[in-house]
Amino acid sequence: MSKTVDFSTQLIIGGRPLPGSEGKTFETINPANGKVLASIAEASGEDVNKAVSAARKAFEEGPWSKMAPSERKKVLLRFATVIEAHAEELAMMEAMEAGKPITDCLEIDMPETINTIRWHAEAIDKLYDQISPSDPSVLSMIVREPMGVVAAILPWNFPAMMAAWKLGPILATGNTVVLKPAEQTSLSTIRIGELAVEAGIPDGVINVVCGFGETVGKMLGEHLDVDCVAFTGSTETGRMFLRYSADTNLKRVLLECGGKNPFIVMEDTDDLDTAADHATNSIFWNMGENCSSNSRLLVHQSIKDQLLELIVEKSKEWVVGDPLDAATKIGPMIEQAHLDKVMGFIDQANQDKNKLVIGGKRTREDSGGFFVQPTIFDDVKPDNTIFSEEVFGPVLGITTFKNSEEAIALANQNKYGLAASVFTSSNKTAHVAARKIKAGTVAVNCYGEGDITTPFGGYKLSGFGGRDKSLAAHDQYCELKTIWIDLK
Ligand code: NAD
Repeated sequence: MSKTVDFSTQLIIGGRPLPGSEGKTFETINPANGKVLASIAEASGEDVNKAVSAARKAFEEGPWSKMAPSERKKVLLRFATVIEAHAEELAMMEAMEAGKPITDCLEIDMPETINTIRWHAEAIDKLYDQISPSDPSVLSMIVREPMGVVAAILPWNFPAMMAAWKLGPILATGNTVVLKPAEQTSLSTIRIGELAVEAGIPDGVINVVCGFGETVGKMLGEHLDVDCVAFTGSTETGRMFLRYSADTNLKRVLLECGGKNPFIVMEDTDDLDTAADHATNSIFWNMGENCSSNSRLLVHQSIKDQLLELIVEKSKEWVVGDPLDAATKIGPMIEQAHLDKVMGFIDQANQDKNKLVIGGKRTREDSGGFFVQPTIFDDVKPDNTIFSEEVFGPVLGITTFKNSEEAIALANQNKYGLAASVFTSSNKTAHVAARKIKAGTVAVNCYGEGDITTPFGGYKLSGFGGRDKSLAAHDQYCELKTIWIDLK
């Protein structure tokens, strides 16, 4: 695999790469060494308006929104194939700009990105609308129509994959889109925008505007000609999109936000070794910068010591290193400010007298990168900060319980409700826990988010308005129309 890659740094508007209209740029940093990777064109208000207009024109004039589903499917399948042909290049961009381990980018992020586009494409010529069971003197049809122009506001932790989670269903249902990547990770999204043009997606169907949340994100949130905002990011920012919408055109708002997910290990778990594997994977994969990471380990008091010993042993496999080294399993935090935030949570856990088991320090400082050691705290009490707040780093907190009722109560004692894992050898305990835990996904005897066929999203402060993935994601980008025809 080549270790060099060219970066495209311009906006994509109406199918063309463009510099920002005011000529401004901003720097994107490699978090593994703190050095500037590239200067990205920063969108002005005029550029945001141009991108929304291009998306509106492509939607109203077609052909995208008016194409037969089977035709749209062909174009989207071609798009997936073109992305596949450039998977190594995109993986390199993600490793260099987001600090993600290259092996994960190649083996997880890129295959999932491609599969997501392909899965949604393949679905669209197999979906039917409905005729309602109304009086025979009428023909009453319920049809789904695309909403129009969707703005997709993306996070930095899975840049290409999150773009695909939005693009797949938005495009499959005939909408057009303006993508706004997180300012930390513009490169792979710009490249995906270019590849869309190469794949024959009509001009204006996918536009990419880069820049900061407070400016470009806000403009899209408040834009009167955007019909829907699909956002993935923090709950704090998600709330702002609800306000933007309330104060402007009541555009639909779909939020996928944060999580503080419990990983419950019941007393009867017969395979603690597997539980320990999943627990370490869940907290350390993607540096813990993962909304569904299980950062609260809730374990029965009688097996805590045994499980902790296994987890500590397995944590040694989580090698911190250069993201471009195939052996690295933990790269840097995304940026200095986020490193400071994570270290702040570690300080707070120490002040709260949580017991530091491993890690707890910054590492590889000589590299200039923003690395943190994999960290585990024991004796975390439910009123301690790392029990309730999302750290978004490789920091696990351990809390014990006395029985399964207490475990479920602890699991639900949180403002978020994105995901949970339950380990038990009892079917009944598994079913009861799965039903009682307030989370969008409950995995039993594993850490997992399901696959592309299953909806993903959260209860409580973890989300609002819809679900990513699966056919549920199609519904959130459609309007439902009733057509009522008098036959009398
Ligand atoms: P963030 O909220 O800071 O930023 C997300 C996006 O919003 C970025 O594109 C940013 O530019 C934009 N933004 C920021 N401030 C804005 C403002 N005032 N107005 C408009 N737009 C604004 O989140 P982040 O730090 O990039 O991502 C981390 C968060 O995302 C975590 O909380 C994580 O749990 C969550 N996340 C959730 C999911 C999910 O599917 N539920 C997936 C990945 C990440």
